[in-house]
Amino acid sequence: MLIKRVIHIDNQGYQVEVPDACPVCHRHSEITTSAADWVENRRGVQVVCRCAYQECRVFFICSYGPMPSPNLLAVRPLKPPENPFPGTISKLSPTFVSIFSEASEAKHLGLMQIAGPGYRKAFEFLIKDYAKSLEPLKEKDIESKFSGAVVAEFVPDARIQAVATRCLWLGNDETHYLRRWTDHDLEDFVTLIKLTTNWIEIEHLSKAYVEEMPEKSPQAQKS
Ligand SMILES: [Zn+2]
Repeated sequence: MLIKRVIHIDNQGYQVEVPDACPVCHRHSEITTSAADWVENRRGVQVVCRCAYQECRVFFICSYGPMPSPNLLAVRPLKPPENPFPGTISKLSPTFVSIFSEASEAKHLGLMQIAGPGYRKAFEFLIKDYAKSLEPLKEKDIESKFSGAVVAEFVPDARIQAVATRCLWLGNDETHYLRRWTDHDLEDFVTLIKLTTNWIEIEHLSKAYVEEMPEKSPQAQKS
């Protein structure tokens, strides 16, 4: 999300957009602007901003394209949000976690056209790596198939299949020319991806415990 601020250069006011959350601590605190000026022979503008959250207070620089209608091009420094996924998912598909984090950075900067396909790509890694963990011998087959076919053929758990299928529907909307699901947006897509990871974690952990503890222990059988 972006918010508007007015900056002054050469006694002239310009409206620019700045992130509404701090790019370092990610809190939605008041963002103040201080210095602002032309850079690179007036081809762009840079604005020094600051997070008002007491524990943070970092300065960061927003870079814009040419005035008078400046585009926010970059925010630096930028610390990626912490990995929101449990260890099971990070271990199952580190590539999913890293692409998801890049997509979140893009979303954080308001770059929705980049974030959507990024989440879609992250999801493909999640579902394929999960399928490969279930069917390690069919690795090549899984890698070469479309994600939809992988979900239909290699994901037996009905709960995972239900959310993963909907992820695919909304994910296609992020990469195709026409949207089919006009009442659902990027937030819904991200929620569905998180739901898929939750079910995968439940399924994975439950299975691991059943395998580790196949029967009643000898002590328990005596009592
Ligand atoms: Zn901050």
